[in-house]
Amino acid sequence: MTSLHLLRDATRRCPKRMVYGPCGGVSADGGCEVPGIRCSFAEDPVLLRELDFSAADIQTPDTAHASGDALPPSPRRAAAAALGDLVATAPVITADLPVRTVDPAVVADAGARLGAMTALTAVIAGEPPGLRESLSPTHKALLLVAAGARVISGITCRDRNRVAIEGELAALADLGVSGILAVTGDHPATTALRDADPVFDLDSTRVAALARRAGLFVAVAEQPSAPPVDYRPKRLALKARAGAELGILNLCGDIADIARFTSALATTAAPVPVLVSVPVLTSASSARRLASLPGVNLPPSIVAAALAAPTDPGAGIRAAVDWAGRALGLPGVVGVHLSAVVDDEDASGIAAVDALAAAATAIRDTLRPRTAVLAAPEER
Ligand code: SF4
Repeated sequence: MTSLHLLRDATRRCPKRMVYGPCGGVSADGGCEVPGIRCSFAEDPVLLRELDFSAADIQTPDTAHASGDALPPSPRRAAAAALGDLVATAPVITADLPVRTVDPAVVADAGARLGAMTALTAVIAGEPPGLRESLSPTHKALLLVAAGARVISGITCRDRNRVAIEGELAALADLGVSGILAVTGDHPATTALRDADPVFDLDSTRVAALARRAGLFVAVAEQPSAPPVDYRPKRLALKARAGAELGILNLCGDIADIARFTSALATTAAPVPVLVSVPVLTSASSARRLASLPGVNLPPSIVAAALAAPTDPGAGIRAAVDWAGRALGLPGVVGVHLSAVVDDEDASGIAAVDALAAAATAIRDTLRPRTAVLAAPEER
């Protein structure tokens, strides 16, 4: 078989039908995130050298053009251009939206709290792995933008085909979100709703290309510690060739692990700037909950601080701020992405939102002399 045929065969055997695999769910022993099978991409790392982005993989079919169903390319949107300028002038601080709810009032409250923080560059409103405890990306973005937040909306391929994803991209661009975080998403077999049908018509790389074509700023994620580790910098560079302008490194260990990744990324054909994920752990239970997520490797100093002072939320925040300062010193790192999980005492997630806001402010204070002044939310 030729390399192309072998790669197509890897796609055929992948439960998420990825063209640009492997996803970040590969386990340390090369197993697929779906239990009981091997990852079809990770089993032959040499083959991955042949993988490069092809615009043909997102070409609109002639039939769609003929019927008027093709989504036309859109010029760069103003909000996307503004976010691009902020990334270029670095440092950038983004934060998760830790609330998991279908209550619009809670989302709006979280958006108002994070939108009021001039320390924060943008809120990343991702799609959590569970399938139901979340509003649609467009509805969530609508609430957050109205609340004054600069928004990067997460789009996953789990539940939508290409038509649905293009519809979300067009709606989000029209709404004025700053960017998209293109993610393939977890297979339903690994979530609580195992009987939901997986879609995976596209993968994150192809969504990145479509989002760029829709005029949006495009971020993508990468997991440096997932096998094959040597391929991960090249995979992020491949996503940059597809259209990604910013990489967000998932929680992958300590400073030395990130330094290895960014050094290798710098030698690729498309060394896209990166944000390093920083866990904000405000309790022992939030540390344990985050550490239990598959593929997550937490910085030991932050975990130790949270476990040593289980009743002092400030201990985890201070440790996160200190660790973020070290990560920001690495070449190629233009900012940090703050992550928090809801702990046992915080049903709505608003306490986690406030912890993220406090961490963002403290990090920005340590950077003040070399930080460009950000516009107040109402001036954006
Ligand atoms: S680990 Fe990911 S890329 Fe590999 S076969 Fe499974 S779903 Fe596909």
